[in-house]
Amino acid sequence: MEKHKCVIIGTGPAGYTAAIYAARANLKPVVYTGLEPGGQLTTTTDVENFPGYPDGIMGPEMMEDLKKQAERFGTDVRFGMVTKTELSEIPGEYHKLTIDETTTILARTVIIATGASAQYLGLESEKAFMGHGVSACAICDGFFFKGLNVVVVGGGDSAAEEATYLAKLCPKVTVLIRKDHWKASKIMEERVMKTPNIEVLFNTDTVEVVGEKTVTGVKVKNNQTGEEQTIPAEGFFVAIGHKPNTDIFKGQLDMDSTGYLITKPGTATTNLPGVFATGDAQDRIYRQAVTAAGSGCMGALEAERYLQEFEEEVEAAQIVG
Ligand code: NDP
Repeated sequence: MEKHKCVIIGTGPAGYTAAIYAARANLKPVVYTGLEPGGQLTTTTDVENFPGYPDGIMGPEMMEDLKKQAERFGTDVRFGMVTKTELSEIPGEYHKLTIDETTTILARTVIIATGASAQYLGLESEKAFMGHGVSACAICDGFFFKGLNVVVVGGGDSAAEEATYLAKLCPKVTVLIRKDHWKASKIMEERVMKTPNIEVLFNTDTVEVVGEKTVTGVKVKNNQTGEEQTIPAEGFFVAIGHKPNTDIFKGQLDMDSTGYLITKPGTATTNLPGVFATGDAQDRIYRQAVTAAGSGCMGALEAERYLQEFEEEVEAAQIVG
């Protein structure tokens, strides 16, 4: 059975940054890509808010650069999915990971960077215009809609926050809420309701996103009256929640009710020794590429320190022995 000092699960900005640091610390990291190599950024077009790219960069290209940078220092990037984990509670002991339901490997440290997935409505038209007017992140993509009209779907804090953010850039923001009330906190709801260029349509379902090459409108239906209309808009922002990709850690790692992994504040440390959580899998608040990259760095530095302490203990035990 293969034994590794450091296995990183996931290849978004958190995973690759962890890999760069771990490889440079000579931990010879092995990274498993998961089903979506490169993570959520591979589903976006231009990234303009990642420091160091004054002219912006395409999401997939940035992830390819991060991959190359990780490989340059010896990271072993493997296409595969970690399908099962048996994490040890004993400090210094190996954690067992099953890859693609077939191969089992051992890892002294595990850095989790499995990310989160934005929830979508599941409409064909939504999929067709992804990156061409459909987005799940106003902070990432809002700027491309400056001066244009947009629609936001969702009634939670994310939708409220995205609508308020977009209202600073766009002449008109229409929010679609399927119920007759917000789910968002009162303060966020009030902020939206007080913004003059935001219109909220309650009891409203999205029928489809319309357009040719890019989005030109959103067809909606009032679920009480059955009345349909098409709202003219160039952007459609889906803000109906995110789901952290943490199902394989259920029952082993501490997580909140939505599945976000819980780390010791200010660290990447989980409740188990040698297991570190980074990126969107543990971040319900910021969810940005740059914050994910920062936490990936933290995970790798903590893994390095953990291994160092473990090696010192083994050495001390051998001297005593
Ligand atoms: P939430 O689960 O809180 O809200 C999701 C919203 O989307 C609900 O209004 C829900 O409607 C709606 N929705 C879900 N599925 C569909 C669908 N298929 N069609 C139409 N509407 C749908 O998710 P959020 O991302 O808003 O928030 C997640 C957590 O993060 C919350 O705890 C929130 O407080 C927190 N958060 C905090 C922020 C802050 O404090 N600044 C900012 C953003 C998030 P319904 O009510 O009918 O289920």
